[in-house]
Amino acid sequence: MYIKNTILIVDDEEIIKRMLKDVLKDTFAVLEASNGQEALDMLAANADKIAVIVLDLMMPVMDGFQFMDAFRKNRSYDNIPVIIATSDEDWHAEQKCLEAGVWDFVMKPYDPVLLRFRIKNAIEKSRMIMAEMDAVTGLYTKFKFYRTVRSLLSKRKEETFAFVRFDIDRFKMINNFYGVKEGDKVLQSIASELRKVSTVFDKFVYGRFENDIFAVCMPYKEENVDLLLNALQINLKRVNKDYNIKISCGVYIIGDDSLDVPEMYDRALLAAKSCKGKFTQSLAYYDDSMIENMRQEQFIINEVNRAIDEEQFEVYLQPKINLATDRSYGAEALVRWNHPERGMISPGEFIPVYERNGIIGRLDQYMWRRVCILLRKWIDEGKNPNPISVNVSRVNIYNPQLVKIFKKLITEYQIPAELLNLELTESAFMEDQDLIMQTMSSLHNLGFKIMMDDFGSGYSSLNVLKDMEVDYLKVDMKFLQNKEFNGKGEKVLTSIIRMAKWLHLPSIVEGVETVEQVDFLKCIGCEYAQGYYYAKPLRIDEYEEFLIREEETDARGNADENTIIINELWNTRSSISKFFDLLETPIAIYEYRKGKLELLRTNIRYETDIVFDEKVDEQEYYRRSETEKALLSEAFTRIVRGDFSEALEYELTENVWYRVTVKMIGKRADTMIMMVTFYEVSSYKQKDWHRSRAEWK
Ligand code: C2E
Ligand code: CA
Ligand code: CA
Repeated sequence: MYIKNTILIVDDEEIIKRMLKDVLKDTFAVLEASNGQEALDMLAANADKIAVIVLDLMMPVMDGFQFMDAFRKNRSYDNIPVIIATSDEDWHAEQKCLEAGVWDFVMKPYDPVLLRFRIKNAIEKSRMIMAEMDAVTGLYTKFKFYRTVRSLLSKRKEETFAFVRFDIDRFKMINNFYGVKEGDKVLQSIASELRKVSTVFDKFVYGRFENDIFAVCMPYKEENVDLLLNALQINLKRVNKDYNIKISCGVYIIGDDSLDVPEMYDRALLAAKSCKGKFTQSLAYYDDSMIENMRQEQFIINEVNRAIDEEQFEVYLQPKINLATDRSYGAEALVRWNHPERGMISPGEFIPVYERNGIIGRLDQYMWRRVCILLRKWIDEGKNPNPISVNVSRVNIYNPQLVKIFKKLITEYQIPAELLNLELTESAFMEDQDLIMQTMSSLHNLGFKIMMDDFGSGYSSLNVLKDMEVDYLKVDMKFLQNKEFNGKGEKVLTSIIRMAKWLHLPSIVEGVETVEQVDFLKCIGCEYAQGYYYAKPLRIDEYEEFLIREEETDARGNADENTIIINELWNTRSSISKFFDLLETPIAIYEYRKGKLELLRTNIRYETDIVFDEKVDEQEYYRRSETEKALLSEAFTRIVRGDFSEALEYELTENVWYRVTVKMIGKRADTMIMMVTFYEVSSYKQKDWHRSRAEWK
């Protein structure tokens, strides 16, 4: 084979080009270009000579990403490796590059030894691809496969063929968990299964492209495809019993003769992608809407830089409601894309796309900054803002710079860390637990509060919950959704909230839409709710108005009906007052104003169970009233702030335990009326209630 030995260096900085040339000129011929466009021209003229491209990302005229876009479209460049030169600030571009077909990375400034090594590797790899047989499985390589399929199709007459492409979901996990050897074993078993299946058909071309990607071209009939898929699945179950290996298989029924074989591959790939991440679906057929979706996705990807620069992304805020007071306590920041031509684009359309190719990392960081700017503005205006939570997507959770980025943000804007809460999605906790624990502990040390988001949406694990030191639990809205509500959802939700209480984790239930749901959540002791029932995600000005309105209703006396009840309570002969005394639970009503609490009214049960006669033992009397006062003061202060108050437990006297809940039942200006209820829990306490979080582990 003719050996290519020219390196194309694409960089706008002269010094760098000169340096690279010095390093490489003894081994290679070197061509140079100063931007993407020049590089494309250079390629067109020298494609058959160029062995490797070393590409800078940031360049004038046409940057590295744009270059990769154009480069990839030309199939004859498929086997030319591209090595990206990156500096650590654009690390998050890495995933994007891999998607764009980049082979490897080198860090700037260049280490000559490492660079030569990387180049050698890339050339080696591209030679292997040019080879006909794959070393691991002995199957055809991509190029050989394409050639064979081409000749097969050119000879066919009436027959219809199917182009099948499949891979293993999260194959990397197998390599990580069980080692590369085990990974190779899985690949080899697939190869031998393909060999077996091939004997059933007279025409059957198959190959392995790279990693875990395989392709087959076979006579099309639905049952043929099913036969192939079944055989593969049964075989994979046998190979590894512990790990549920799922494949994603896409099929393109070859109809259009004008298509090039790689384009057929692309169509089968589009189909395969549509079953990625879906547990129950392993097979999909290509249809034209997939191309439309891809174009839409491409649009969304192409627009992102401009959208960020032009601040088309906006922060919307959805209040979180403290269920004990029905007042808001902070909000969640949600992104909205206000596109100049297309109008509002819903996050459902672009977030999953950005998550897939890593761009979400950048969008997240943009949102965090906007939120910090907003908090700073509120603080400067003398407002006393409650915490705002931001979403942290998976790419960022595993970003080694994450802690640094947050630290920098709060330092730059002088924001107390506890004002910026971080929502980490549950599924991210399953991947690398050690790393995530380390990150969380650094964030905690800086003072950030962490919420586990979407709890219950994926493979929730109670174990994870007890090991992960999160501060709040956000429960996925699926438990409230109609079909699940009124049935199992309710029961599951109840036990989730109860379990969270065990772990001293306050919970926030999302997607609350009806008053029935609110009542239910209050009933099971959920601390916070978020949902359309209270407010949709609001524009910032709308949110500010929301807060003002809330303040005004408070000042007017927040619940008129409650005020009536309270007034009635002073009249000992009123029916409500009699009823109050009949209740079998001790209850006390307090007035709370500027840190001072005053007992207003108690019921009979309180007098008999809780009150201690001063004359019997003065010291004990003093001890009890001081303990109760201290306990309630703390609970009241938290409630006034808008924060929740955990149910408190205290030992009234030896082995007699009470759980105390506090609820604000009325408010006028700075005076609040609090209802304090005492539940005796001594029997629980003796069994398992006392198990602390630490013992539970
Ligand atoms: P999420 O974090 O679970 O956010 C809650 C979603 O539920 C939001 O959808 C919110 O508008 C919606 N929602 C709130 N209350 C109700 C309700 O009562 N009923 C119903 N049916 N829905 C309700 P949204 O804003 O469309 O966002 C969807 C997802 O996109 C979010 O789910 C989050 O995962 C992601 N997302 C949104 N903004 C950002 C962001 O700035 N960064 C990142 N990484 N992800 C974001
Ligand atoms: Ca969230
Ligand atoms: Ca959520």
